[in-house]
Parts: sequence; structure tokens; C-alpha cells
Amino acid sequence: MEEEKQKKGFMDWYFKSNLLMRILIGLILGAIVGLIVGPGISVIKPLGDLFIRLLQMIVMPVILFSLIVGAASIEPSRLGRVGVKIIVYYMLTTVFAIAIGLLLANLFQPGWGLSLAGGEAAGKELTRPSIIDTLLNIIPTNPFSALSSGAVLQIIAFALFFGIAISFLRGSKDSRLSEGAELVLKFCDGAAQAMYIVVRWILQYAPIGVFALIAVVFGTQGGKVVGPLALVTLTCFIGYVIHVLVVYGGVLAMFKFSLFKFLARAKEAMLTAFVTRSSNGTLPITMRNADENMGISKSVYSFTLPLGATINMDGTAIYLGVSAMFVAYAIGLRLSFSQQMIIILTATLASIGTAGVPGAGAIMLLMVLDSVGLKVEAGSAVAMAYSMILGIDAILDMGRTCLNVTGDLVGTTIVSKTEGELDLEKWK
Ligand code: ASP
Repeated sequence: MEEEKQKKGFMDWYFKSNLLMRILIGLILGAIVGLIVGPGISVIKPLGDLFIRLLQMIVMPVILFSLIVGAASIEPSRLGRVGVKIIVYYMLTTVFAIAIGLLLANLFQPGWGLSLAGGEAAGKELTRPSIIDTLLNIIPTNPFSALSSGAVLQIIAFALFFGIAISFLRGSKDSRLSEGAELVLKFCDGAAQAMYIVVRWILQYAPIGVFALIAVVFGTQGGKVVGPLALVTLTCFIGYVIHVLVVYGGVLAMFKFSLFKFLARAKEAMLTAFVTRSSNGTLPITMRNADENMGISKSVYSFTLPLGATINMDGTAIYLGVSAMFVAYAIGLRLSFSQQMIIILTATLASIGTAGVPGAGAIMLLMVLDSVGLKVEAGSAVAMAYSMILGIDAILDMGRTCLNVTGDLVGTTIVSKTEGELDLEKWK
């Protein structure tokens, strides 16, 4: 994809260097400069606000198009036994993942005490409509006004309906219908891809944006923010490990596989995912591991693995749960039980809509935050907390992508066994 030959420019040192490194450098420099300059650093706040506005700009279109494509890519014709089994597995493990993330976040309370909102939000419950109203509200009475007012849950609901309808139409025998659906899907896919290009551009600005945001956080808050960030990272990684040991270990044991034998056969894919931070990019390795190391039949993995790389993101789910809680804690809010239930719902959907590319989960976090009333608006305390998470996204993304890919392989292994499509010789 990086085909265009760029002319040698004086900004090469910037654009040609590793983005990840640049964001990390932005974070560290921002912290140092903020600490040195103190509250006066607030003059560079607009540089950070610009970054937040750029992100806000793309949230709705990204959700709309990528969820439509996600939902439409589940072909009903393939939704036979294998499809149903794998989708049930993918959904269940994702819900478990978020629950683990939320439990740990409740336990460790990362971000609590930061009081980014200057204490004013502390103790304040977010306006809490009843559960019934919340659920009813998911169905938009007018999807277009939902889009323009930024009602995230409503757009998710509409996109799912729309996407599933397209996937049905694609399988229609009437060529007028199937061609039309194909066209709409291509359009949405093209639009989603275009949005991801815009995301890539915005990320080029990320080091500067993160620098400014972090400098303001450190300038006004001082060094007391280092601990909370370390705690978020720790909470996420403990979640990733628990998920592997308890959920994957448990599922595998139920189907008479040893977790350690499994991990030994999945390690190349896991490692590749860790360093590339992309489920899609890892797919060829994941497939090879399934085929050569695990003896899984192509008829199963050729369907379940690409689907998993698109919709099954357990690591992202844990990250979304923990990070949403962190943002709330950081501004002095404790999310109620029903708000945490909403996070389970939106984070499940967000993880389905997350593209298997580096950093995609951080964009989806905006939507999860939105669903519980934590809007990332330029200059707000929520934006500050969000920028802190974004500053360490690379580290969190490595772990979550590794887990995302591992989960796809666990599901594929057990489904292929129940279908008698697994060469047990490879497991001796
Ligand atoms: N990088 C992740 C993946 O490719 C997605 C995410 O950012 O959460 O699976």
C-alpha cells in the first residue's frame, strides 16, 4: 500500500521515521516539557485540540461504514453449522473478555484520584435513564438524525441491520438484487478504506497532538499521572493473561486440548501479531499455523480465521473495558453498574467493528466512551484522559492484537474438532 514514491523532502526525518517511535517520543517529550514549563504550557493547547477535533471528525463515518462492512461480510450461505458455532464462540469469548476487563478495572481503579476534571465531576452520577429506555433508545427513529447528532449506539444498530440485509441480498438468485448489494458493499468498503487513509493521515499528526496534550496534562497536573498510566498498562496485560489462562485454557480443556500444546503451535502467529499490531497482517501466519502445526482442515480455517481477524477481538474488548473505566476514573467518575452493562454492549459491538489494523481499537474507544456520556471534546477533561491512553496505545495494542489472533485460533481449533476436520496426529 505504501507504493507512492515520495520525493525527497526536508520533512523526511519526520515522515520516514517510525510512527510508533514518534508518538512515544511525543509522549515523553510532552511529559518532560510540561513538567519543566508548568501551567504556562497551556498556550500550546490548541495543537492538542486540533488533534482531538480531527479524531472527532472521523468517528461517525468510521463506525457507520466499517460496521456495515463487518456485518455484511458474514455470508448467510456460509452461516451453516461451522458459521453458527464459530460466531457463538466469538461472541461469548468477547463478552467474557470485557467482563474480565471491567472486573479488573473495578479492582485496580486505574486513574482514580487523578481528578482531571478538577473535582467538579467527582461523585456526580452521569444522567442515568432507566435500562428499558436505554435499550429502546438503541433503535433510532431516524437514522439520519442519529448520524448528524452523533448518537453512536443508534448508528451501530442501524449499521448492523443494514449490513446484515446486504449480506442476505448478496446471496440472492436475482442478479439485479445481488449485484446491487455487491455495489453497495463495495461502496461502503471503499468509504471505510478511505476513512482509514484519513486515520493514517491524522496519525501522522498524532506525535505533535499527543505532545501538546500530554504537555498540558503534565504542566497542570505534575508528575502524579505516571503511576495511573503504568496501572492502566498493567491492568490490561493482567486481563490479557487471565483471558488466555482461564477462558482459552478452559475452552480448550473442555474439548480435551492442552493449553500448552496449543500455545506451542500458535506461537509464530502470536508473536507476529504482537510485533505487527495487526490481525489482518498476521492472517497468512495464522493460517499457516492452523494448517501445518494444528492439522486443521482448510475448509474450516479458510472461513473462520479471516472472519475472526475481522470481527473477533478479545484483546481489544479487554482494552476497551479497562480504558473506558480509566477515562471515567481519571475525571473523578465511578460508572454505575448499568453504565458498565452498556460498556459491555458497546464494547462488544465496537470490537466487531474494529478493523484488524494497528491502532484501530483506540478509535473505537471514542464510541464506547460516547455511549456512557463521556464525550471526547476539545479542551475537556475527558479529552485529556483519552490522550493519556492514546499516548501508550502502541504498548496496549501489541498485547491486545496478540490476544485477538490467539482467540481466533482457539475457536478454529475447537470448531474443527467438533466437525471432525482436525488431524489429531498433530497434537500427539
Ligand atoms: N490492532 C488490533 C488488531 O489488529 C486492533 C485494535 O487496534 O484493537 O487486531
